[in-house]
Amino acid sequence: MSEVLLKVDKLKKYFPITGGVLGRKVGEVKAVDDVSFFVNKGETLGLVGESGCGKSTTGRVLMRLLEPTEGTVEFEGQDLTKLKAEDMRRMRKEIQMVFQDPFASLNPRHTVEKILEEPLIVHGVKDKEERKRRVREMLEVVGLNSYHAKRYPHQFSGGQRQRIGIARALMTKPKLIIADEPVSALDVSIQSQVLNLLEDLQKEFQLTYIFIAHDLGVVKHISDRVGVMYLGRLVEITEADKLYEKPLHPYTKALLASIPIPDPDVQQEKELLKGDLPSPANPPLGCAFHTRCSACMEVCKTTRPELVEIEPSHFAACHLYNK
Ligand code: SF4
Repeated sequence: MSEVLLKVDKLKKYFPITGGVLGRKVGEVKAVDDVSFFVNKGETLGLVGESGCGKSTTGRVLMRLLEPTEGTVEFEGQDLTKLKAEDMRRMRKEIQMVFQDPFASLNPRHTVEKILEEPLIVHGVKDKEERKRRVREMLEVVGLNSYHAKRYPHQFSGGQRQRIGIARALMTKPKLIIADEPVSALDVSIQSQVLNLLEDLQKEFQLTYIFIAHDLGVVKHISDRVGVMYLGRLVEITEADKLYEKPLHPYTKALLASIPIPDPDVQQEKELLKGDLPSPANPPLGCAFHTRCSACMEVCKTTRPELVEIEPSHFAACHLYNK
């Protein structure tokens, strides 16, 4: 039986919109709006949607890099949203993040050794020799060489820099890695190398991943389950094979249709995503996807569909299945 590592319940993150000379609050952006899901130990949950759908904000709120507006985030049964700053700092040993742009997230003035040593210093590894040994070991683990320790980030390729980003995340031996678009900035040929590395590391260190991406193609092979987000809400979540073989939500179907495939004739028959993403500051009433949905009905324009279990362990928020 699977053991739940992370349980997110009714999570909300609203950002105020201010205006006027006094800078009063005139509205809010519901970047994450009532999102619930769980992640089992050792599995990979893909979290997918267009930019602005709230997936990256969700990742940052889980880490409490952003404070949640409401909701709970239980990690091994402990509610992270209630932890004091000092306890949360200690907890970050267990939950680490890998970012999209490894260059921006690595200090250009520090050697790789200093970058990788830092999490150990923060988490109380006092012995300098031990820190150096662990840095060199970790470089080998992520497919680099120990002599790379003395080099600076600009001396590496994009793929190598992401390996350094992954090494930094692993230094504290975390249980959960939140990877926010970790391969989006890389050449396609390098993407699969980094994805393979992440899979190998997962097996070797029994890691649990939340893998955030804007493209269902990227998370297909790495994910056990996939959640699809649209304008701050989870609109579908299920096991990866069910989602790719029999998607329920029209938005998921459109995202799947937008995955590039080699045969252009097949592509033309599919229904591609229409129109632009509405502003998250002013989302459409009812189903937020109704302005772009070819299956839209009258009820969709007024009533927001709840995320419900349509088939065993397959949840979707769509009136098509709620008659
Ligand atoms: Fe389309 Fe209606 Fe389903 Fe929304 S609820 S995805 S508008 S059919």
